[in-house]
Amino acid sequence: MADSKTKKRCSFCGRSENEVGFLITGINGYICDSCATQAYEITQEALGMSKHSKTSTKLNLQELPKPMEIKAFLDQYVIGQDDAKRFLAVSVYNHYKRLMQKDNGDDVEIEKSNIIMVGSTGTGKTLLARTIAKLLHVPFTIVDATVLTEAGYVGEDIESILTRLLQVADYNVPEAEQGIVFIDEIDKIARKGDNPSITRDVSGEGVQQGLLKLLEGSVVNVPPQGGRKHPDQKMIPVNTKNILFICGGAFDGIEKKIAQRLNTHVVGYTASQKTATLDKNNMMQYIAPQDLKSFGLIPEIIGRLPVLTYLNPLDRAALRSILTEPKNSIIKQYVKLFEMDGVQLTFEDAVFEYIVDKAVEYKLGARGLRSIVETIMMDVMFEIPSEEKKEYEVTLEYAKRQLEKANIARLQSA
Ligand code: ADP
Repeated sequence: MADSKTKKRCSFCGRSENEVGFLITGINGYICDSCATQAYEITQEALGMSKHSKTSTKLNLQELPKPMEIKAFLDQYVIGQDDAKRFLAVSVYNHYKRLMQKDNGDDVEIEKSNIIMVGSTGTGKTLLARTIAKLLHVPFTIVDATVLTEAGYVGEDIESILTRLLQVADYNVPEAEQGIVFIDEIDKIARKGDNPSITRDVSGEGVQQGLLKLLEGSVVNVPPQGGRKHPDQKMIPVNTKNILFICGGAFDGIEKKIAQRLNTHVVGYTASQKTATLDKNNMMQYIAPQDLKSFGLIPEIIGRLPVLTYLNPLDRAALRSILTEPKNSIIKQYVKLFEMDGVQLTFEDAVFEYIVDKAVEYKLGARGLRSIVETIMMDVMFEIPSEEKKEYEVTLEYAKRQLEKANIARLQSA
């Protein structure tokens, strides 16, 4: 007994001298090596947190890009889609203004306007979102709605949308609370069928209900590592009131719903006049909130996405521009790759037309352009670095030969 009293012990964990690495002696007690390490970690964490909470974004309206500047920036990377660009530019600018608003007692509070972009796959929705992210002064992330499921089912909880935002904000909660989230493939959580079903619709309505909470603005508990919540995990509360949500989706088949609505509404005296002016090749431009409802989004969600915009299908001219015009166009990327080997790469103009022809013929869209160019260039990329050439021109004849050899039909699954 006497022995245990005289033995030196760590004043924090109580372990004796021979149970620890070493003891550090203080005036009235001791601390062991592992408690000292833990204490250091706790101090670091506490200091880090307080540093973060003080450094929420300092936005200054003078320094922020104006809507026209945002659009001009987008123009450098994204071809066409002027309407969507304007809507995005204004919404992002307003988002900044809302973050800077001061309560001056006039009861006017600028509310956020979440956005929904509708357009076929491969028309540039994600590209717009990614490009805008380059310009932003707030945390930004892209998440995919297809992985989300209702709590209790296989998949990720809805709150995990915010995990990514927290991660890009380096777990700085006040910063994340001012961020922007792009939710891709929002159409995949549409209710299947028009009638609310009595059975559970795991990936549909339940997820929409969950999402509603985020869009509306509430405090949600976010799992710091994402995925599924589990009981022992420490949650981080995040207020979504000031987070701007931009949603995107292809909404395959929605054109039919738009056409139905327009046809049923356009009856009577002015009918023929109005239907005559409709552009049947691009029904997406007439999209209205009720079409989203017919597609299967619940009205509450639609109400929380007040800015509705669309993307145009890409025509031949757009595909041709995408090939060479954007700042980091596919062709510019190849020229750069060759430049690194000291080779000047050029293309016969007819090659571009040929690539576009094939993309249109096989309905590959903008995504297909890259696979076509890749197929044409594969052999040259294999051979050139070992040769002495200083320049190389891709001719139409060569491009045709390569593509025919590779069996283009294979690309269709790309
Ligand atoms: P989605 O609408 O399905 O989100 P993406 O934005 O992912 O389509 O586009 C796929 C690829 O096609 C992009 O990475 C880009 O290379 C090209 N692309 C599509 N639309 C455009 C566009 N309007 N301008 C420039 N490139 C585009």
